[in-house]
Amino acid sequence: MTFETHGKHLIAGKWVSSDATFPSQPAYGPGRQFFVGTVALVDQACRAAEDAFWSYGYTTAEARALFLNTIADEIEARGDAITEIGSQETGLPAARLQGERGRTTGQLRLFAEHVLKGDYLDRRHDPALPDRVPLPRPDLKIVQRPIGPVAVFGASNFPLAFSTAGGDTAAALAAGCPVVVKGHSAHPGTGELVSEAIHAAIRTCGLHPGVFSNIQGGRRDVGTALVQHPLINAVGFTGSLGGGRVLFDLCASRPNPIPFFGELGSVNPMFLLQSALARRGRAIGEGWAASLSMGAGQFCTNPGISVVIDGPEADAFSATASEALGKVGEQTMLTDGIAEAYRAGRDRVAAGSGVQAVLTSMCESRNATPYLYSVSGSDWLADDVLGEEVFGPLGLIVRVANAEEMIRVAQGLQGQLTCTLHLEEADMPLAGRLMPVLERKAGRVLVNGFPTGVEVCDAIVHGGPYPASTNFGATSVGTLSIRRFLRPVCYQNMPEALLPGGC
Ligand code: NAP
Repeated sequence: MTFETHGKHLIAGKWVSSDATFPSQPAYGPGRQFFVGTVALVDQACRAAEDAFWSYGYTTAEARALFLNTIADEIEARGDAITEIGSQETGLPAARLQGERGRTTGQLRLFAEHVLKGDYLDRRHDPALPDRVPLPRPDLKIVQRPIGPVAVFGASNFPLAFSTAGGDTAAALAAGCPVVVKGHSAHPGTGELVSEAIHAAIRTCGLHPGVFSNIQGGRRDVGTALVQHPLINAVGFTGSLGGGRVLFDLCASRPNPIPFFGELGSVNPMFLLQSALARRGRAIGEGWAASLSMGAGQFCTNPGISVVIDGPEADAFSATASEALGKVGEQTMLTDGIAEAYRAGRDRVAAGSGVQAVLTSMCESRNATPYLYSVSGSDWLADDVLGEEVFGPLGLIVRVANAEEMIRVAQGLQGQLTCTLHLEEADMPLAGRLMPVLERKAGRVLVNGFPTGVEVCDAIVHGGPYPASTNFGATSVGTLSIRRFLRPVCYQNMPEALLPGGC
């Protein structure tokens, strides 16, 4: 099947062009031209979103659930074309994109169920106490209200689940907030097709067309204008620490600062405690290699660091991991820029004091194979660079001298999306000492597993202290993520007729 893109922006129900185009950079297949986004289009989309909010923000839960389910249907109806163009643009295999499509439609449907249940509104009521002395109490009700138009930036490594109709968009639409998406330049055609699906759902459901717009990028001032637009109330961002920090700072320096929910990078360290290492070192080494190299290591939950206590078991673990990683063939990285950043990250790690190469490999143009390095705990503790994310299949084994140094390494970590403990019963005393440290560092702490693969459900947290995210009180995955786009309003002595739905 060959899918033809038209390259236009979707602005409040209309497909519009602009003066210039930029080419897509597919891993294979035809290069396509897309119209470059402009600041004027950003303004148009934001004004339309504000207009739409006056109706969409007051829709019933049933209407929004129908809309979310219809978007999922429309995405499924375009499933093959989405897989084809997504695979060409990102180099990700078709099976991976089919799975990601299922996750994307699954989370839209999950949010539909969630809004219908209604508990996300967290209603509270303190009835009036007119006879209370010395002062009577008024009648007080709280309900969560949608915040208004939201900007969304997707990431290159999840062209569906963290992009145009991904988790941020689903959560914002579920809350009752119109969305303006800044399309990712690494997958503009995929973004166009998914926007068509949302456009179709808006028409089927008879909603205001300003509920959703998609502005292609092609230049950086599109994103900077979007986060600074006075009608935008919050930003959902998934992407790099560098890009996220620029946009976060812009949000904070606005005349009216707004929250920037940036889901950024993480090294997701694993701590291999001694009995687990001795009993299951081989299986953990093989599992680590698979998790580390999955999708060319381009997962925000990629476990880039394994911390082990030095000794023969650590030697055996290192040899197993190296052997398993050595069998991983060449994989295509998402973009030329990401491959370039991977090479730069590898060079930074390799140049670290005391860092030894266990498995050297290759990264030519857009193709890469895994690297494995090792370093002592004391050298790791002395060099902050060794704790930074390298986006790609690169592993670092930190060989600590003893349990005390393992705890110091845990204390020396930056904020993380995940931290993992591999343990046996005999490891519980050390695990008990590590836990208070790790739960302050990460949004999710795992035992005897690997962090890649994030369940979309009620009890998940995908976030964490900076730099894992810019807002440690939030998650970007799961139903709790809707809270980012709501704010509590208190209604005091309010007549029933003036209360919003849901109170
Ligand atoms: P990225 O390069 O930061 O791009 C994300 C978006 O931000 C793109 O739309 C990009 O525009 C825009 N952008 C970046 N820098 C900007 C700037 N200075 N000014 C204006 N706009 C800017 O990130 P990526 O390469 O797509 O994603 C890979 C990263 O995402 C990795 O670090 C990974 O760990 C992280 N990630 C995190 C999560 C999570 O949930 N925590 C999930 C997936 C990925 P252009 O289109 O112009 O490039």
